[in-house]
Amino acid sequence: MGKVLIIGAGGVGTVVAHKVSSVPDVFGDVMLASRTKSKCDAIAASIGSNRVRTAQVDAGNVPELAALIRDYQPDLVINVALPYQDLTIMDACLETGVSYLDTANYEPEDEAKFEYKWQWAYHERFKAAGLTAILGCGFDPGVTGVFTAYAVKHHFDEIHYLDIVDCNAGEHGHPFATNFNPEINIREVTQKGKYWENGKWIYTQPHEIHKPLNYPGIGFRESYLIYHEELESLVKHFPTLKCARFWMTFGQEYLTHLRVIQNIGMASITPVTYQGMEIVPIQFLKAVLPNPGELGANYTGWTSIGCRIKGSKNGKEHTYYVYNNCSHEAAYRETGTQAVSYTTGVPAMIGAMMYLKGLWKQQGVFNVEQFNPDPFMEQLNIHGLPWHEVHHADLEMD
Ligand code: NDP
Repeated sequence: MGKVLIIGAGGVGTVVAHKVSSVPDVFGDVMLASRTKSKCDAIAASIGSNRVRTAQVDAGNVPELAALIRDYQPDLVINVALPYQDLTIMDACLETGVSYLDTANYEPEDEAKFEYKWQWAYHERFKAAGLTAILGCGFDPGVTGVFTAYAVKHHFDEIHYLDIVDCNAGEHGHPFATNFNPEINIREVTQKGKYWENGKWIYTQPHEIHKPLNYPGIGFRESYLIYHEELESLVKHFPTLKCARFWMTFGQEYLTHLRVIQNIGMASITPVTYQGMEIVPIQFLKAVLPNPGELGANYTGWTSIGCRIKGSKNGKEHTYYVYNNCSHEAAYRETGTQAVSYTTGVPAMIGAMMYLKGLWKQQGVFNVEQFNPDPFMEQLNIHGLPWHEVHHADLEMD
């Protein structure tokens, strides 16, 4: 039995806390810590049975984190706070000799830049300390990397084309809301598009390339090429890839709101002075938008996220599509959150389980696709994210 410290009490933290508590033979002791302790207490109370201890911590403060970790002595820290805190939490883990797992790569607060270089630079230090860091263990990044590794292991000799397709066909009833932290989400979807082709990155204007894609059980949805962080690690770890892209669905209403938000300067990350106080427009916007962790109650419909892969097997071209469909209503019934938080929190719990069971315990800093995908895939089916495979599918890759 292991001991985990979860940092971050938002939508994703809620799911991780629920899920680890539901597997007591693996997670013997659980602590949830975040900036606002009352949020941790509310989550712990909703789980009940005194399964989850709570604490207050500023995850940007290494000495504070190290003191908490020393006091609690977890086997693993699960970071589901914000990407800005990745490096301070990794520093605290190194200082206290504890392994680390997260769901989003580090980005500097003053620049929307998604790169693994900062966290990959910790590899030698984690290795020398005999510790493991598992990066990007949500759904995307996360399950998408595991899906790709599974495809390579079982269905291909070489993979050449990868399209990661992410559809949210749910309805939450708000004119505009983001499905995870609004600040991080808006930074992600308003940046330039970028994809991998023939050994180099191709850049596009935001949302310049789009087309309808057919999602299983959902139908056609307009899908936009955006940059997503797992593309960087996947083209590194699977160098046979000639092309790797990421597609996400957006509704017209969402895009119109986004355009207005950008045009009036509310998506800006540059501080402005308002009534003598310095505020960051996008952070103020977060304060007035619906809380993603509380969208679940009236959310209906499904998410569908998967990998469409083309490559070769026994000298012949092979096509393969592996995906999960997740119901917002079912996610809400189980954890009180919507499917985007759910599809992120469940894989984080499974990644932690892989570490505690010794199945993903190499020394150093790793992306999920570098580990054995099989036991992780097995647990997805058990813990609420069943996956489906289609061979010889029309991958709509043109
Ligand atoms: P939320 O904004 O709902 O929650 C973030 C939590 O982190 C809040 O409880 C917040 O505290 C806490 N926090 C923020 N700053 C600090 C700090 N300095 N010290 C301590 N705690 C802090 O975000 P989500 O739950 O929606 O997302 C969590 C993470 O999951 C993000 O990194 C996001 O990028 C990632 N994610 C990954 C996905 C994937 O598939 N890989 C998909 C979706 C999200 P407070 O309550 O006080 O604000």
